[in-house]
Amino acid sequence: MIVAQVFGATAMLWDGESRVEATLAKRLKMGADRRTTILAVGDEVDVERDARGALSIVAISPRRTYLSRAAGHQGEVQIIAANAEQAVIVSSVAEPPFRPGLVDRWALLAVRGGITPYLCVNKVDLLSPEEVEREIAAAAAPLPHVLVSARTGAGVKELHDLLRGSITVLVGHSGVGKSSLLHEIIPEEEIATGEVSAKNLKGRHTTTSSRLYHLPEGGIVIDTPGVRSVSLGPTTAQEVAAIFPEIHGAPPCRFRECTHRMEPGCSVLAGVEAGDIPRQVYGRYRKLLLEAEVV
Ligand code: GDP
Ligand code: ZN
Repeated sequence: MIVAQVFGATAMLWDGESRVEATLAKRLKMGADRRTTILAVGDEVDVERDARGALSIVAISPRRTYLSRAAGHQGEVQIIAANAEQAVIVSSVAEPPFRPGLVDRWALLAVRGGITPYLCVNKVDLLSPEEVEREIAAAAAPLPHVLVSARTGAGVKELHDLLRGSITVLVGHSGVGKSSLLHEIIPEEEIATGEVSAKNLKGRHTTTSSRLYHLPEGGIVIDTPGVRSVSLGPTTAQEVAAIFPEIHGAPPCRFRECTHRMEPGCSVLAGVEAGDIPRQVYGRYRKLLLEAEVV
């Protein structure tokens, strides 16, 4: 069974056909590392029925992938979604303005957890195609991207094709139109089911408000709460470089742990000088490096 929603130690599970409520077994609560999320949406779990007929989660399978973010000040890590194969970073081209830095941060978090990032740019109805291209040029490469409008329906089929048959986590800050897109993709009944169960569990502490939906034609979509900013937590320069193929693919530098900032014999700096690495790409690398409290 797959975790569809988490309310403290209680979860809604999806068994492939319907949703059932289950409670995390006490020994799992005790044994877990308190700084990381014990149970995350997307986790695969084993359950047992107790004498009174209630379901209890007795085992959590090791996560194949994870999407996490730093939460709080004590180094806590919040798992936003488990076992997703791809992350669709939803952004808008205007209203609110496109934020390339945020896209880069989500891409880094996805790659860190073993997830393939994609970019989805919504609200393309607000600008001309040329303006859209200009806005996203700096951030789109190297991410594969889809251009959509929840308002006109443009590109929604393409987005649907991307989600079909895969396990996808949707991320994005509020206002970009993520819920509008979700309503285009997930049938009304499926969205309503979750709302009913949430009502039953009202009043219980919500540790994460990610929610799992299934697509009737196959595939899973995990919707995550819209956050204003994402913290990366401890990050290495190598992780930052990994999301820029031009930098990642540069010849080895003299120092193996080169941060490509000012080190002598740095092949990335040489590449920028020679025009092989676009200055815009290098600029994004430096900006992300600054934000990433590199360790
Ligand atoms: P969320 O916070 O990301 O879930 O965003 P919502 O789906 O609630 O949408 C935020 C606002 O943007 C609403 O007023 C929507 O009507 C509007 N909106 C959503 N998609 C589009 C779109 O494709 N084009 C335009 N022009 N507005 C949109
Ligand atoms: Zn270097």
